[in-house]
Amino acid sequence: MKKWDVSVIGGGLAGLASAIYLAREGMDVLLLEKSDQLGGRARTDEQADCLFNMGPHALYNKGAGSQILNELGVFPKGGTPNPNGVLISEGKLHELPAAPLSLIRTTLLTWREKKELVRMMFRLPKLDVTAFYPMSLEDWAKEHIAEERVRQLLFTLCRLSSYSNEPERASAGVLLRQLRLSAAGITYLHGGWQTIVNELRNQAVKAGVTIEIHSAVKEITGAARDLLVTLSDGRTIASRYVISTASPAATYRMVKNADRTRLAVWKETVVPVKAACYDLAVRKLPAPAVSFALHLEKPLYFSNHSKAALLTRDPEHSVVHVLKYLDSRQEQNPTQDQQELESFLDQLQPGWRREVIASRFLPSMTVSHGLVTTERGAVLEQEGPEVEEIPGLYVAGDWLTQNGLLADASLSSARAAAMKILQAKSKREVSV
Ligand SMILES: Cc1cc2nc3c(=O)[nH]c(=O)nc-3n(C[C@H](O)[C@H](O)[C@H](O)COP(=O)(O)OP(=O)(O)OC[C@H]3O[C@@H](n4cnc5c(N)ncnc54)[C@H](O)[C@@H]3O)c2cc1C
Repeated sequence: MKKWDVSVIGGGLAGLASAIYLAREGMDVLLLEKSDQLGGRARTDEQADCLFNMGPHALYNKGAGSQILNELGVFPKGGTPNPNGVLISEGKLHELPAAPLSLIRTTLLTWREKKELVRMMFRLPKLDVTAFYPMSLEDWAKEHIAEERVRQLLFTLCRLSSYSNEPERASAGVLLRQLRLSAAGITYLHGGWQTIVNELRNQAVKAGVTIEIHSAVKEITGAARDLLVTLSDGRTIASRYVISTASPAATYRMVKNADRTRLAVWKETVVPVKAACYDLAVRKLPAPAVSFALHLEKPLYFSNHSKAALLTRDPEHSVVHVLKYLDSRQEQNPTQDQQELESFLDQLQPGWRREVIASRFLPSMTVSHGLVTTERGAVLEQEGPEVEEIPGLYVAGDWLTQNGLLADASLSSARAAAMKILQAKSKREVSV
């Protein structure tokens, strides 16, 4: 049986990135993807000549992910959305105070509240966010913000940049770090996130990675550079190292005797961040001036992505994403969630139904495998990429958040796992 240097489980951003790093250093890498296409949650689908990401996707310009993509020879192109938008509060539309002028003009806040918001925004860049990793956002806000409405606005902005809707248990430090990152700018990508996936795939093939789709990993056994990966079609693959980019719970299920490893802890403590997504292509927007909106009291989002990025063949058409941030502790009700998103659209774009040319509702998308709770915030630096009890087994994915959230977390943990393997390999070569 051929023995691979590395088997990578999963062909999303994390799997592709780690495979490229390793193959470029001369390792023999096999990438196994269970579905019929690469990309995972970064895929883009075409409907009625319009491109839909899997819910709204924005690349953080100064995030670890952008740097890593550039390092791998991928230079995503796109447009910057206009920060001006609308904020609905108590049934009324207000200007979103996202820039100095809109802050002065907005009818949402009193002067006293505006002054406090400005103070908070000035403090944010200088804040030692790591000190607040084990503290909840709600507790941080109570301690540092006097005005209730400014607190609510902070929760709304943190929700926007992190997708997390649980201020009572989410780590303040991690969410404030993410808010700071989003203030440094975001990009909506021309052609959608599939362009990143395609470029990563090209780089992987160029580096010599062997890619297999329709290859679901069922079990990982063995240890210490003698790992065996069993696929659901019965084949067994021998490998010195394995990187799993599946969720902690899925990796736990794959690994024999995982109860004795830290995978058991991660499976219990890492809860997903979820969202209900309504992706729409419309002939024209009834209220084209409204291209971005949030709700202060409800966890709702609206954005016209095609205003900044090329996503439609017909320049008159628009791709808009509407989203509800879900709370992992509450039972989901997809019918009610869709109705809530539709009535949000009614408020922002009256008559939108007549203009729809394609749509899809994704009731429960996993935006990230791991909400950073206060408990996880306290041990963030100790999570992954090694599964220490099984030498040779590594994990990567967006739940490993030392260097960012979302795709930044996926890509930076993928890089970290690849670097650990290269270090382990060179240590071994020196000792041999
Ligand atoms: C609605 C939504 C909005 C988002 N918005 C943003 C955003 O604005 N900015 C941002 O940075 N990020 C955003 N993200 C997050 C981003 O899409 C993900 O963090 C990133 O794509 C995850 O990549 P990954 O490779 O870690 O995981 P995945 O994309 O989940 O890839 C894992 C792959 O592993 C495969 N796999 C799983 N189990 C097995 C197995 N047993 N055998 C073989 N293959 C297996 C899966 O099929 C999948 O292809 C968003 C995500 C969603 C859903």
